Amino acid sequence: MVALKKKNQEDKSSQKQTGKIESLVIFKCNCKCIMCSVGLQIQRSMGSTDYHAVRPHEEIIKDIEKAKKMNARGFAFSGGEPNLRRDLPELVAYAKKMGLEHIEVQSNGRIYAYKDYCKKLIDSGVNNFVVSFHSYLEDVADKIMGVPGTYKQAFQGIKNLNELGQKVKINIVLMKLNYGHLEETVKFFLNNFDVEEFRFTMTMIEGNVANNTDIMAKMSEVAPHICRAIDISNEMSQGKVGCFVYNMVSCLVPGQERYINDLGQLDTVLVGPEFETSLDESRKGKKIKSPVCRKCKYDKVCYGVWRSYAEAFGLEELKPVKEKQA
Ligand code: SF4
Repeated sequence: MVALKKKNQEDKSSQKQTGKIESLVIFKCNCKCIMCSVGLQIQRSMGSTDYHAVRPHEEIIKDIEKAKKMNARGFAFSGGEPNLRRDLPELVAYAKKMGLEHIEVQSNGRIYAYKDYCKKLIDSGVNNFVVSFHSYLEDVADKIMGVPGTYKQAFQGIKNLNELGQKVKINIVLMKLNYGHLEETVKFFLNNFDVEEFRFTMTMIEGNVANNTDIMAKMSEVAPHICRAIDISNEMSQGKVGCFVYNMVSCLVPGQERYINDLGQLDTVLVGPEFETSLDESRKGKKIKSPVCRKCKYDKVCYGVWRSYAEAFGLEELKPVKEKQA
């Protein structure tokens, strides 16, 4: 009985709370990112008005109401490029009316070059602007985003948001083209923008990358750059800028394990056309570990690597962390 009670407590403590509902509101985009995770859906949706291209307004309203019911702290508009929806300000205003604390829009940042539009979104209630911006080098950034001129527009866009009092969360997806100069990219962003958070995200094998894995770098090659980038960010901002690392394992970032997103306590529920999935559950089902992980200090809390990554690169990079090392 005591053992059962203890197990129930353990199960409960390992359950994550829903921190955010992320709603895929559109499968259209004004960029063609080489690593886009929904690139195949976007190719099918461009020029189309069908249900999967732009989800109906009422459906997004239901997603917002679900977030409220689940007591989530935040709601994220994702896609595709959510700013291509004409009703976005209206939907944001509804999320605000429902009392959701964090209202996030994930974007490539191009449209924020229009300051009046930025103001409209802020007035509607957006208070978390996440902009994907992958390099301080213009040619590299544009190559990754697939559309020349994106760098200039996103740069102006972030300036506009900053001038309107909004800090920006920067998402940097890491691959062969940009990981080698990540430290310079972080310095550049901190010198030019008012940054609230960095999201260092390893490329995943899905969407456009499924047939183009050559662009990917190994986790063990990228990890030292992420560690140095975090140090630089902490030093330059005196720890005021948050850092999160996605699709990475603790054993490859010694000393920086606390920045690994998988170890956090808040789950995100992803909602799209005809599907709903807890990202935490999805990680549990689709990530794998090596037999050596059993000797690792993080074995109980670490999900390991995506199965597709292991199929492409193997599991030899994983090195168990001993109790004393951590
Ligand atoms: S459990 Fe495995 S993958 Fe996770 S940190 Fe430890 S060695 Fe790395």
